[in-house]
This record gives sequence, structure tokens and C-alpha cells, in this order.
Amino acid sequence: MISLRSESESFMTARLLDGLKIRDQIFTELQDEIRALISTGIRPGLAAVLVGENPASQLYVKSKIAACEQLGLASWLLTPPASITTEELLAVVGGLNRDNNVDGILVQLPLPPQVDTKCILEAVDPAKDVDGFHPVSLGRLVSGRPGLVACTPAGCMEILRRSNIPIEGANAAVLGRSDIVGKPMALLLMHANATVTICHSKTRDLPEIVRRADIVVAAMGKAGFVQADWLKPAATGQVGAAVIDVGTNTIKDPAEAERLLRNFPARLEKFRAKGSVLVGDVHPDAVNTAGALTPVPGGVGPMTITLLMSNTVKAARLRRAAAREFSAPQTTATAR
Ligand code: NAP
Repeated sequence: MISLRSESESFMTARLLDGLKIRDQIFTELQDEIRALISTGIRPGLAAVLVGENPASQLYVKSKIAACEQLGLASWLLTPPASITTEELLAVVGGLNRDNNVDGILVQLPLPPQVDTKCILEAVDPAKDVDGFHPVSLGRLVSGRPGLVACTPAGCMEILRRSNIPIEGANAAVLGRSDIVGKPMALLLMHANATVTICHSKTRDLPEIVRRADIVVAAMGKAGFVQADWLKPAATGQVGAAVIDVGTNTIKDPAEAERLLRNFPARLEKFRAKGSVLVGDVHPDAVNTAGALTPVPGGVGPMTITLLMSNTVKAARLRRAAAREFSAPQTTATAR
């Protein structure tokens, strides 16, 4: 285990699970696979549909298109106006479903209120459902069949596997049961032979459940909610919990920033200069108790786009190359 001195010189027990490093590993593997596909005449491609002019959505889509360009994937950006109707958007999705060059379709959420979001997501061809939100994709995941899995939980599994965190037989606590993170995460851990407890806002005695867990996945959207002393500690002869912190909470309140970052003077200093700071669902003090931990930022965050790229390549392989019995080696990321 790598132990580090923190900025406050307190002793950190946790091994930091670096999402940026894992992203770079997966990108290198994907580049090889994309080159092999291109040599057979198939250039995997992602179409992004960005409705209206929501600045946060524009930023997300921009980074997704930039990742496509970095990897040599084809990409298309469609930008219908915020006034679009459900029927008009269905026609856009239908066109992308029929376009053989498009392997992945990404409809950036949220959609304007007049659009039926469920109806649009269900109109995406499941073979091109690179977000993994379609009921068919979820059904395949439930029954353990190959398919496209939601990017954030799939990214969390990559972090666990590539960091050699033992999953089989481990007690895992998943905090949160949303369709896009908690539920698929629990299913992926269960298929990897962990014993999974799914927790939600009505769960009784959450600290006790977390204390028993070898793996904790926090996806609640509650800044610093999971306390450091809830976690199985790293101590002599004991590994300590592996903590995957999915939460991304922007803190602007100085009192809350002080409460969360009192042991991290350099981060507090940055907060004072910038007026905001990004914090996960796990209290930052957990670096002094857990066995391993994804930092926020720099842990789970970079994995979501990475797995979107991986899903696009996988979709191209399953839909187009499999038909031609493409036999190039698969990356571990896309093989799943
Ligand atoms: P969500 O749809 O709001 O779901 C939150 C879940 O947390 C719900 O299941 C809720 O329970 C549960 N919860 C709330 N309070 C709780 C409590 N006190 N104890 C136990 N469980 C509690 O959120 P989400 O979309 O899954 O996202 C979760 C977090 O992950 C957010 O911070 C989001 O920003 C972040 N996120 C990050 C990435 C990334 O790329 N890093 C991607 C996606 C999401 P109920 O079901 O009972 O209401």
C-alpha cells in the first residue's frame, strides 16, 4: 500500500485510486482497437444530440466530442433548438438509428420540459445505446448477457479491477439506487460475485452497513455524507475499505467548506480564492481511515467519458464488425 503525507502532514492510510491514470490506460488500449477496426473499413462513430443552449450540457458534450477526436473516432454533433417537440426529436433519433456509420447515439440530458424524455431514450436503437439507459440494455445487464452498460458504474468497475481490489466474496455497500448509477452498480458487483447491500434514503442504520463493507460505492449526491469513522479502517493486518466516491457536489457555502475541509488547508485556500470547491459524497477525512479511495475530483469523474468511448467502440464491434467476424483482440474494457 502506498502511504502518503497529506498537505496537513496527517498520515494518510488510503491508496488513492487515480481515475486519470486509468483513463489513459484505457485510451491507449482503445486506440489500438480503433486502428484495427479502421484497417477493416470500420471507423466507429458517436452522434451527440444537444438540444438547446444549456451551458453545462454544452460543456459535457464538448468534452465528449473532444475525446472522440483524440481517439480517432468519427463524431457528429446535432444541435436542435430548445423549442423542439417530442415528435421532431423522435425523427432526429430515427435518422441516427438508420445511419449505418453511427455506432453510438448520445442524447444529452436534461431535455426541455415539453419533450418526453423517456419516450426519446426508448427510441434509441438498443444496439447504439452507448449510455446504457435503454430498458433493453438494463434487462441484458440484469440477466448477465453482453450489452452496453451505463458508463459511470462500468467505470467504477474498471477502477476496482484495474486497482486489483478483490471483488469476489467481498461485502459491498452501494449507497444510492438510481437507474443510472446505484442499480447498475449493484448488478455489476453482484455479477462479479460480491455480496451486495443496496442502500437508499429509507435504509436504517447506514453507518453499521457501511462498517461491514469491504467495498463502498457512494452515489447519493450528498456532500461529505459518509463519515470517515463509518469505514472499515486500514490497520495492522487489515486492508480497510475500498471506497468509490461517485458524488460530485459543488460547495459554495464557506461554513460547509470549512466543515468538510478543515484538515486540508491548501484546498480551503483554493476555495477561498475561487469561491467553490468540488466534494464527493464521502467526507474528505476518509483518506485517513479507508484502505483505498477515489479522490474527488480525479477519481470516478474521468471514467464516465472514458466508458462512453469504450461503449462506442464496443457497439461498433458488436453491430458491424461481429457481422464480419472481426477477430482483433479486445481490450479488457470493451470485452465486458
Ligand atoms: P439520484 O438520482 O439523485 O439518486 C440518489 C440516490 O441516493 C437515491 O437512490 C436516494 O435514495 C439515495 N439517497 C439520498 N439520500 C440518502 C441517504 N441519506 N442515505 C442513503 N441513500 C440516500 O443521483 P444519481 O444520479 O445516482 O447521482 C448520485 C451522485 O453521483 C450525484 O452527486 C451525481 O452528481 C453523481 N454522479 C457523478 C457522475 C460522474 O461522472 N462522476 C455520474 C453520475 C452521477 P432514494 O431512492 O430513497 O431517494
